[in-house]
Amino acid sequence: MDVIFDRGIYLPGPDLWLDSRRKRPVSCISHAHADHTAAHDRPILTGATLGLLSKLLRRSDPCALEYGDTHHAPSWSLTLYPAGHCLGSAQVLVESKASGHRVLYTGDFRVRPSPTAEPLEPASCDTLIMESTFGSPEYVFPPQEETLARFFATLRRWLAAGCVPVVLAYRMGKAQELLHHLLSEGFEVALEEGAYAVARRHEELGVKFPGGFRSFQGDLRDGETLLFPPGRRTRAALKGIRRKRYMAMSGWAVLDGARRRLGADEALPFSDHADYNELIDYVKAVSPKRVYTVFGFPHLARRLRAEGYDAQHLENGRENIQLRFL
Ligand SMILES: [Zn+2]
Repeated sequence: MDVIFDRGIYLPGPDLWLDSRRKRPVSCISHAHADHTAAHDRPILTGATLGLLSKLLRRSDPCALEYGDTHHAPSWSLTLYPAGHCLGSAQVLVESKASGHRVLYTGDFRVRPSPTAEPLEPASCDTLIMESTFGSPEYVFPPQEETLARFFATLRRWLAAGCVPVVLAYRMGKAQELLHHLLSEGFEVALEEGAYAVARRHEELGVKFPGGFRSFQGDLRDGETLLFPPGRRTRAALKGIRRKRYMAMSGWAVLDGARRRLGADEALPFSDHADYNELIDYVKAVSPKRVYTVFGFPHLARRLRAEGYDAQHLENGRENIQLRFL
């Protein structure tokens, strides 16, 4: 059974899906990463997410909302709040008009600031459905400024030694965030074609990058840093480039052996997700009566139970969660 295509969170009262991976008549899409999307008939999402997914959703009849605007159905309402994860990413607050019960679904979220994502706004709720990607105690990230300082220093060292830095970051979100940071430090950057196209789309959606950048077409210029998604295709595309040094920027880099696993010469802990402490602090800030954790480690729900929360982990987000309170 291909459980992947059954993923998603279902609210039976409103008959509403959240981040369903299967095409549905109506589903909220929290953000533009492929593991949260499908070509729904009526997706509910932010205008920026719609802009990033325009190809996928070309046959859809979308309901695009600004942050803080409320969509009203007869028995429930829905409001999107910034999630800080990538451009357009949203938390989804669904409120029953009969009972006033509020369900908040975080989608993927990040507490630390990003130059290419709207800052996180916690929203109070009764029931919290939250991601737990880094919901295990080993995933505590150092201060972002510290990591970025190491990032820039390493790349400068490689460039000074006549090497070609290749920064590995996925195409949607992380690549544009790192591009922004690199340009603000004066680096010359050429991006993999797909990441470049997404960066241009970011500009169309209002993101201003602090400098010029170009699409890499096999023609390396002196002193350039390359920005590519991780994976075999990148290795193949860059086969002809000599003296490459790969830099991975990932939350998984807090673990020993991350460099080897990520296939990089250097790996630094930099993520667009909340770390373990930030996940716990977020729950405290939102103060829900009940918590469901999805898409990550079950440890977080255990820790929350130890702190007195009514918390349950839903295994790998593969189940269709039936919430009966709306
Ligand atoms: Zn994501």
